[in-house]
Amino acid sequence: MRTHDRPDPTYDVVVVGARAAGAATAHLLARSGLQVLLVDRGRYGTDTLSTHALMRGGVLQLSRWGLLDQIIAAGTPPVRRTTFRYADTVVPITIKSSYGVDALYAPRRTILDPILVDAAVASGVDVRFGIAVTDVERNPEGDVIGIVGRTRDGQAFRARSRIVVGADGIRSTIAERVGAPFERVGASVAAITYGYWSGLETDGYEWNFRPNAASGVVPTNEGQACVYASASPRRIGRGGLGPLTRIVAESSPDLADRLAAAVPPRALRTFTGLSGHVRRSWGRGWALVGDAGYFKDPISAHGLTDALRDAELLAREVVAVVIDGADEHDALARYQTTRDALSTALFDVTDVIAGHRWTDEEIPDLLLQLNAAMADEVEALASLHVPGLGGAIRSCY
Ligand SMILES: Cc1cc2nc3c(=O)[nH]c(=O)nc-3n(C[C@H](O)[C@H](O)[C@H](O)COP(=O)(O)OP(=O)(O)OC[C@H]3O[C@@H](n4cnc5c(N)ncnc54)[C@H](O)[C@@H]3O)c2cc1C
Repeated sequence: MRTHDRPDPTYDVVVVGARAAGAATAHLLARSGLQVLLVDRGRYGTDTLSTHALMRGGVLQLSRWGLLDQIIAAGTPPVRRTTFRYADTVVPITIKSSYGVDALYAPRRTILDPILVDAAVASGVDVRFGIAVTDVERNPEGDVIGIVGRTRDGQAFRARSRIVVGADGIRSTIAERVGAPFERVGASVAAITYGYWSGLETDGYEWNFRPNAASGVVPTNEGQACVYASASPRRIGRGGLGPLTRIVAESSPDLADRLAAAVPPRALRTFTGLSGHVRRSWGRGWALVGDAGYFKDPISAHGLTDALRDAELLAREVVAVVIDGADEHDALARYQTTRDALSTALFDVTDVIAGHRWTDEEIPDLLLQLNAAMADEVEALASLHVPGLGGAIRSCY
């Protein structure tokens, strides 16, 4: 991994947060010839609190960046079927081949995130783990011109850049330090508890919906399947096997039987919930990407797909500014306008589903709305042309 040793480093772009949104953004920017620094307070290759089902748009992004082969080579099983269950209805859907994607994948974050970081390194990004960013630096006019932080061993760290990108997750320090206002806040909060079963009989993604009892299966690496339960925070409580087993039994007795025959995890992880939000995601010298700028409840399993989508939307505009001399205000505003146009329908329907206040009669229509929003997003993504990246994008069709 390259590290920089210049005393006063200056880059075109500093990206804070080296996972789905940040590593992908840094990779795309460097591939277009920009000087990029990517920092993260964590460690390379670690897990994080997240299940990891990728939808078609996310797989499409990995495919056209030339990274899907590595996901497959890591033993990530192809998902060729999605099954929805609600009330007494079972709807199996075969994944059709479109836009060069003939299967979905759900790589563990210990697989996906390092592949994105390695791609960033290979395209020339300076990557530094163990840097906790505490603030932004501004010039006398108030424009953001760099970051301020601390290394793991307590040394002060500073770097300057034309644009600082906050890709630092739900509780983004960059969003807070630049004062990015919330433009929308969701009305719902749901909680999720999940773990990894071995030997579970399964055939692709499974999504089960009953009132205040949703569950699902996400097949992943090493023959394991991630099984989750989502409900109101009160119902999930501290999470664990007890609430998960009860919610699975209620939402899919069939899955409950299969779980009983499989090897359960030693421990489960629990997300106690946070309402969705959309922040203003750009300003003078800064932009936000991924959960830092736009977060919605995990029940739609779409945050990673959005992060990979928005990495490309943002990279396109930043390249236009730095390389083509486009007006920064116009370009970054266009980034948010496009992101929001692709996100609003998803945000709204996810917020309703995450409220866990719908009935058996209402859920089919909500799921149809969710699917329609995802289909629109894939179409929009497929038609994107990113300056400097056109060859790579065209090659996947
Ligand atoms: C329980 C749960 C289940 C989910 N399931 C799915 C799913 O099945 N499918 C899906 O698509 N999405 C899912 N999501 C959403 C998905 O996890 C997020 O949308 C995704 O992780 C966003 O990626 P990101 O790169 O924006 O942020 P993150 O993955 O949160 O990465 C942010 C990075 O920033 C770093 N960072 C933070 N602050 C600082 C700082 N001050 N200085 C330096 N570094 C910093 C962190 O160390 C971290 O590495 C789920 C989320 C949760 C909580």
